Amino acid sequence: ESTINKIAAGEVIERPASVVKELIDNSIDANATDIRVEIKGSGTKSILVVDNGSGMSHQDASLAFTKHATSKISSIEDLDRVLTLGFRGEALASIASVCRVELTTRQENDISGTRVVVDSSGIKSISPAGSAVGTSIVVNDLFYSTPARKKYLKSLRTELANITDVVTRHAVAHPGISFTLVSDGKVIIRSPSSGELFDSIVHLYGADVARSLVPVEFRSEFVSISGYISKPELTRSGTDLQAFFINGRSIYSRVIANAVRLGYYTLLPKGRYPAAFLKLEIDPFHVDVNVHPTKREVRLSHEKEIESAITTAVEQALSTADL
Ligand code: ADP
Ligand code: MG
Repeated sequence: ESTINKIAAGEVIERPASVVKELIDNSIDANATDIRVEIKGSGTKSILVVDNGSGMSHQDASLAFTKHATSKISSIEDLDRVLTLGFRGEALASIASVCRVELTTRQENDISGTRVVVDSSGIKSISPAGSAVGTSIVVNDLFYSTPARKKYLKSLRTELANITDVVTRHAVAHPGISFTLVSDGKVIIRSPSSGELFDSIVHLYGADVARSLVPVEFRSEFVSISGYISKPELTRSGTDLQAFFINGRSIYSRVIANAVRLGYYTLLPKGRYPAAFLKLEIDPFHVDVNVHPTKREVRLSHEKEIESAITTAVEQALSTADL
């Protein structure tokens, strides 16, 4: 069985926010400390992502849009210890199949950079180009080649909310990286880059949320948990004040949301959720991120132990807090 087969193909790009997510993931994997996202028309007209990461060599840049070209894993075994956000090597290929894309990139020691222009019919041109160190990608005319998909887009306001959510989650997950989101010329997000999760929460979710937070710090055999939860006074009817990260990857998990809730016992009114920003460090060997192409869902071995560790972490944090 080849690595390619194990990495089942799938639809990665559903909406503008998926493009933003994949491009930011790549910038983070390239060790960028500054990531700027500029969108027009909620991303349907254009999405520009500029990073100051490692950049690509001329050769890597020419291969980047080839399906299953990834510089991040080279064997099936590597799938068991994925620490980079990307590894399937299909994001850029998928994006280029539904949009017009222009990539400009340069590595630190290269004299000249590279520009690659590509659209759904393939690579249009590869040429040397002046460039700062890092990578900038412009994605134009989203879904121009798949009008059917375009019809499924929600209102511009919803698409913008989705993009804001993606950038916010990445910014909370990586407090050391400075994120900027500009929509139609207006700055929506400018994250601090102090490296402190708390600073990012204050900035992204507001002082009222930050005031109610209780630190969480807990370690068990299978997981090490850190972050913040709210005192029971701060609740929401949904989980919009929750963000969970496993090894730096933002994930959605009912299981974790429930494990957190359980830690509050009867302190929460029915159907209400606390704020929770939790970073879980788990041996990558026990985390399967290859469940879904978007990698937002993960499968955990020792799930029961990890759930109960989360509940205990929450109980402990609340018991020492001044409620
Ligand atoms: P994956 O991230 O799964 O490897 P992608 O299609 O997202 O696949 O990207 C393909 C390859 O292009 C990456 O493996 C990486 O080598 C390169 N690449 C993409 N974006 C960047 C970037 N912003 N900086 C440096 N390299 C990048
Ligand atoms: Mg990627």
